[in-house]
Amino acid sequence: MEAALEFISNYLDVITIVVLCSVAFFFVNKKNKKHLEAKKILHKAVKSGTDEPMTLHPIIDVTKCAGCASCTLVCPEGGILKIIQHKAVLVTPAKCVGHGECERACPYGAIDLVFGSKRRGVDIPRVTTNYETNVPGLYIAGELGGMGLIRNAIKQGTLAAEHAVAGLKGNSSKTDTDILIIGAGPAGLGCGLTAIKNKVSYKLIEQNSFGGTVYNFPRQKVVMTHPADVPGYGQMKFDKNKVSKEELLAYWNGIVKKSGLKIDEGISFENLEKENDVFKVTTKDGKAITAKKVILCMGVRGSPRKLGLDNEDLPKVAYNLIDPEQYKGKHVAVVSGGNAGVEAAQMLAEAKYKNTVNLLVRGDIMDRCNDDNKAIINAMADKGLVTIRYNTVVSEIEKDTIVIDNEGNTEKINNDFIFVFAGAIMPYQFLMSIGIEIDKAHGEKRTD
Ligand SMILES: Cc1cc2nc3c(=O)[nH]c(=O)nc-3n(C[C@H](O)[C@H](O)[C@H](O)COP(=O)(O)OP(=O)(O)OC[C@H]3O[C@@H](n4cnc5c(N)ncnc54)[C@H](O)[C@@H]3O)c2cc1C
Repeated sequence: MEAALEFISNYLDVITIVVLCSVAFFFVNKKNKKHLEAKKILHKAVKSGTDEPMTLHPIIDVTKCAGCASCTLVCPEGGILKIIQHKAVLVTPAKCVGHGECERACPYGAIDLVFGSKRRGVDIPRVTTNYETNVPGLYIAGELGGMGLIRNAIKQGTLAAEHAVAGLKGNSSKTDTDILIIGAGPAGLGCGLTAIKNKVSYKLIEQNSFGGTVYNFPRQKVVMTHPADVPGYGQMKFDKNKVSKEELLAYWNGIVKKSGLKIDEGISFENLEKENDVFKVTTKDGKAITAKKVILCMGVRGSPRKLGLDNEDLPKVAYNLIDPEQYKGKHVAVVSGGNAGVEAAQMLAEAKYKNTVNLLVRGDIMDRCNDDNKAIINAMADKGLVTIRYNTVVSEIEKDTIVIDNEGNTEKINNDFIFVFAGAIMPYQFLMSIGIEIDKAHGEKRTD
């Protein structure tokens, strides 16, 4: 014991240096490993052609980024941002849906959210910071403007309506209503409540049912949404920022009841024209509504992107899944590599339904799917509940079968239902036809 103590006291300096070096080596090594991992992920995205973001996404100003990694910890979609060589890098761009948590978390102001990139331009309707288009008095709020997510839609609807209300002063034209809101999803909800709060007349028309895209979510879908300010009501906030579709709709219906918001369901907007400072809007049933301001909150789900195959009009082909309970003991194919489709596949593949589920992914990875969803579907595949087929597309649709094509190798499989989740076609031709300019965004900073 004495000898050991003597040894330590004689060599204390050396021992201290060795311990400090080992600790430093441990941390540097750990950091290097993380960097290498991040580089590998980025390399994979480049190789698979999924290194271009689909929508709103962060750009990092490397002159401001201090590599603190705050941004990497907050993304609700998982590890989309990682640190490489002391700077934040978007390593899986296609998975980004534009939550913007990274922008808020960066203590150095090094992150901006942008549309498009230098290589890939994205079409976006031209709107001001108040969501007014180039046609004075005509606004676009919510996903139709290019930015997804419920919280953004409510916020944009609110801001657009506030601006529209302020602009009513000085317009003494006689109209059916001051503000006409088209679409009763979260953006339309924000608009309608703002109109009520400001005591101006409004009409809110909806072709289907109140709730917008959320109304068409699958039963019991878990909706992720961060707190949002609801005009005249307070903050919409849920435990862990998660809520079921049903709870969210019930919550919104409570707001509608309390506020007295009136929604005219089953009325479809068809066209509009403007004469001086009055809009004349026509609906599908041939009626006309005049208004001083019009806010388009129509979302983008009206025209789902199709496969473009013969027989795609068969009733077995669907572009969303509302009630998985309807499918029991069936042969089902889901076409998707993104969250919506992967979540649908998870529901359909639940053991209790006894379906045979094929998830058909066009590329060699699920490029637009968050880490949680990936982990769940992979675990289900391990249990044999679902078969994930990569690099596979549908090439033929028949009544009871489909032909799938895996890089030139075709196979006919039994099939009762196909669910296609390939995104939506933006109705920009229509917007242009009513005079709205569409810009191509190439990653320029936004001003809102
Ligand atoms: C499967 C899936 C899962 C998602 N999960 C989440 C999530 O977890 N969290 C999140 O924040 N976001 C999620 N989103 C995105 C979110 O649903 C949308 O960003 C949001 O609903 C957009 O709101 P909106 O009001 O702009 O449009 P929408 O909600 O799409 O509402 C538009 C409304 O306009 C109506 N409309 C359209 N055309 C007309 C017309 N001509 N006349 C009258 N009415 C019309 C439509 O019927 C619809 O009710 C998800 C989307 C999908 C598809």
